[in-house]
Amino acid sequence: MPDPRPRRILVTSALPYANGHIHLGHLVEYIQTDIFVRFQKLRGHAVVYLCADDTHGTAIMIRARAEGRSEQELVADMRAAHLADFAGFQVAFDHYGSTDSDANRRLCGELWRALRAKDLVVSREVRQLYDPEAGVFLADRFVKGTCPKCRAADQYGDSCEQCGATYAPAELIDPVSTLSGAVPEVRSAEHLFVTIEALHGFLADWTQASGALDPRIANYLAGHFLGEPLRDWDVSRPAPYFGFEIPDAPGHFWYVWFDAPVGYLAATDEWCAAHGGRLDDWWSRDPAGRPAAEIHHFIGKDIVYFHTLFWPAMLEAAGLALPTKVRVHGFLTVNGQKMSKSRGTFILARTYLDHLDPAMLRYYYAAKLSGGIDDLDLNLEEFTAKVNADIVGKVANLASRTARWLEPTGLAATYPDDGGLFAAAAAEGEAIAAAYEAGDFARAMRIVMQAADRANAYIDAEQPWKLAKAGPEAAGRLQAVASVALNLFRQLAVYLAPVLPRLAQQAGDLVGGPIRSWDESATPLVGLPVAAFVPLARRVEPAAIEALLAASRPAEPSEPISKTRTTTQGGPPMTDTPQGSATDPATPLEAEPLAAECTIDDFTKVDLRVARIVAAEEVAEAKKLLKLTVSLGGDVRRTVFAGIKGFHDPATLVGRVVVVVANLAPRQMKFGLSEGMVVAASGAGAEGVFLLSPDSGALPGMRLR
Ligand SMILES: [Zn+2]
Repeated sequence: MPDPRPRRILVTSALPYANGHIHLGHLVEYIQTDIFVRFQKLRGHAVVYLCADDTHGTAIMIRARAEGRSEQELVADMRAAHLADFAGFQVAFDHYGSTDSDANRRLCGELWRALRAKDLVVSREVRQLYDPEAGVFLADRFVKGTCPKCRAADQYGDSCEQCGATYAPAELIDPVSTLSGAVPEVRSAEHLFVTIEALHGFLADWTQASGALDPRIANYLAGHFLGEPLRDWDVSRPAPYFGFEIPDAPGHFWYVWFDAPVGYLAATDEWCAAHGGRLDDWWSRDPAGRPAAEIHHFIGKDIVYFHTLFWPAMLEAAGLALPTKVRVHGFLTVNGQKMSKSRGTFILARTYLDHLDPAMLRYYYAAKLSGGIDDLDLNLEEFTAKVNADIVGKVANLASRTARWLEPTGLAATYPDDGGLFAAAAAEGEAIAAAYEAGDFARAMRIVMQAADRANAYIDAEQPWKLAKAGPEAAGRLQAVASVALNLFRQLAVYLAPVLPRLAQQAGDLVGGPIRSWDESATPLVGLPVAAFVPLARRVEPAAIEALLAASRPAEPSEPISKTRTTTQGGPPMTDTPQGSATDPATPLEAEPLAAECTIDDFTKVDLRVARIVAAEEVAEAKKLLKLTVSLGGDVRRTVFAGIKGFHDPATLVGRVVVVVANLAPRQMKFGLSEGMVVAASGAGAEGVFLLSPDSGALPGMRLR
């Protein structure tokens, strides 16, 4: 049973910058935070999930100038785009604010006064490059020049991509402003600094002993920063700057990284204003230092320094509650490499939504996230195979194979004997919950999918489709079997609800009403009506992945699209273009003319069936063979040796639905008995071997006619 005491939990994701669109790399964070939040809400805790657009800084100012409009207009457009992307992926904030808000300005002022009162602010002259034409001080990224160490040309103002040296922009040889092309001048300006070294002792304690940080992060901080005095933190920028002017330092603005984390407080304040309560309900601490609520920050590993040193220092100085956990994740790679525009793997949220179901990405990320700081790889082949096998083949299939038989009768009035299946999965509820709590969503998904496997094995053994054909005397048994299956499906939907909110909603629509509590996984439903079945999930087709990559590549209008496809796939274009006018090459038919005419009787002698690959392994001694085990439905399994080694990775074949010749005479081969043949397309050349897949919804055992 869940912990009976409700917790108060405030959760944040890092604030996306208003200078660009959300992409799949960003979504690693927002999806995992949303899963955590939905899980905690399902467990009955009081949770508020907050975020905001990070709007200030030179980059926004420069971009607004280039686009000939105000920063506010730019920021408003980007906010609308961000909100649409998040909604598309079902990332459900309780409040989404903006750092350019009245609440944020006021709270920045309060934190600033606290820092001043503790005498933590000092002023110093800083020499910085200034663009006399654009009239702005130049951030490091807006200066290019020759590396002072290795003399490589065209390097940024902070570091050299050739030799890796880091330096101050003023050290660059022949520097040029990327804004105007002007030669920058070195100018002196006053900057304000926070002397966080004064909080060194506190930060050493908090990072190492509070339990808020993963030990790897704590060690990193101890090894890189805390072993020596902490450098003063430069928190101001001279005008012109898009941000908040510092009240007691006219002409100076808070640096964007000062006001961004205060955005967490501002978003809380705005949420409280709309829903009741005060900021103190969430961010205060009692005299013993105990926080009013749990605070969980989800961040990427690139902004650890800000969230584990500066931010706690500011909170400490202001006497506010400190984070309970800073949950740090790694970066996204696609097919094992950095996201790349030219490879088409720099994929925007919007582009993904145009081609694929957001639920599939949510599930895949969940299945890969184990709560550590390692990078997450989106391998697109594995993605396709995994979501098809798990979401479509295991989970949705449970309902699609059985729900329709309950439409006339509803669920059985008492829960039938299921051999202990429901109780076994209910007993795993706390282990699944513990994995969610720890951020080890991968472990949670593994336990859930094992339960799904047991449920599918039950259906395969009970063969309800045979009961359905057996007539009235089998009706009771059919209702019992289908009632068990549908209950096991709904139980999985409860466990998966944090990851797959839409599937959970569909499960509720089908039977039992909305899923509102984790406890619903503990008790089977009886005697309830069952709604007409609506398909729950569609397979991800390789053609959709290809189209997604193509849409993410920079446009190359000079190159005909069919040529691009041919080169990337090493074969004829996939059939994602519905147009009948597409010109297909004549080569395959010329290379292999049609066979002699046959009759329909000849054709029906060959029994072609839909089959699901349940196991695949390489035959080490054979150059071309994979050993496949296919399911024809129920407990009918066949071993087939297929000459597709080198064209298909065995790991990605499991779960695929294919076509087999089911009545081929068995053949004894050197490696074992082959009991059929998997149907595949191939040409005379080396284009490849292409397995056939039916439309989604086709069930193993269905005959081709
Ligand atoms: Zn260099």
